[in-house]
Amino acid sequence: MSKYTFPKVDLHLHLDGSVLPESAWEMAAQRGIALPADNLEDFRKFIVVTADCRSVNEYLKRFEMPLQILQDAEALQRVAYELVCLLSSQGLRYAEIRFAPQLHLRKGLTQGDAIEAVLQGVQKGMAECPSIDIGVILCAMVFGECGINMEQNLQTVREAAKYLNTGVVAVDLAGAEGLTPLSTFAPVFDLAKELHVPYTCHAGDSQGSETVLDALNFGTKRIGHGHHIFEDKDLCARAIAEGVTLEVCPTSNIQCSTRPSYEEHPLKKLIDMGISCTINTDNMILSDIDLDKEYDRCLSQMGLTLGDIIRCNINSVKASFMAPEKKQPLIRELIDALWGLDA
Ligand SMILES: [Zn+2]
Repeated sequence: MSKYTFPKVDLHLHLDGSVLPESAWEMAAQRGIALPADNLEDFRKFIVVTADCRSVNEYLKRFEMPLQILQDAEALQRVAYELVCLLSSQGLRYAEIRFAPQLHLRKGLTQGDAIEAVLQGVQKGMAECPSIDIGVILCAMVFGECGINMEQNLQTVREAAKYLNTGVVAVDLAGAEGLTPLSTFAPVFDLAKELHVPYTCHAGDSQGSETVLDALNFGTKRIGHGHHIFEDKDLCARAIAEGVTLEVCPTSNIQCSTRPSYEEHPLKKLIDMGISCTINTDNMILSDIDLDKEYDRCLSQMGLTLGDIIRCNINSVKASFMAPEKKQPLIRELIDALWGLDA
């Protein structure tokens, strides 16, 4: 039983970084995929990132193994289902799970097939675990120059528009940072605006605040990571004025060396400045993390109070892509929890 009994929300969680090791082991065997270990225990160690990643781009290489497995509808459905059940068992009440459909086409699936498989898994999980609600975010990807996969990225946005009322809630732009100017991906967000698809965008993680500026210029109200905004006070002021929310993932930032330590992470300062911040896991299994562990570190090493953590969850609900009528009951419960702190 979690000691954090208020409604917990995760807005930034990648499906392919959250595959249970035992499931990956079993699915790889079923599919004849060679794994870099002789037994489940060694495999478990391989799959969980230790704190030795030098960069985001090195960290991203860890996704290749789960991606080899996640190339058919059955595998996608299974991992989506299992992740929903896992999150529910951890006491989460709402989560937005994201994945990039274009990464799952190696064995003949279309983007639409991949989306339907994930949605079926999510629906099965929600039917079994009715206390949790889930939204699915479809990621467009940065592999390098925007022209490499612009058509696939635009296709992802079109698919998001198609599935918007059946489980998909938004699009995102993820992938390697710093290979090419983020601003060149503007057509992805122009199409999202045209098709009325909500969006978030990875920025300001391994790269500096200039990428946050690009994301704000896309018109995004949410930024994946975004903590390097801290180095630009004008941008901080703009984010506050425009009601932008940062999806902060502390452990991921430390493991990718985008911040040197929990103690030196600017989350608390960003909160105190008045920027809407949220606390998320990014890649639950690859990072060996869950929200409770993340909250523990926020309290013991990052200077946050329990009140800060509850207020971050209020920010999460407000900034989430869930239907407005679902937000009010969760905010009410979180306010009750805040109220209880002073009792
Ligand atoms: Zn991410």
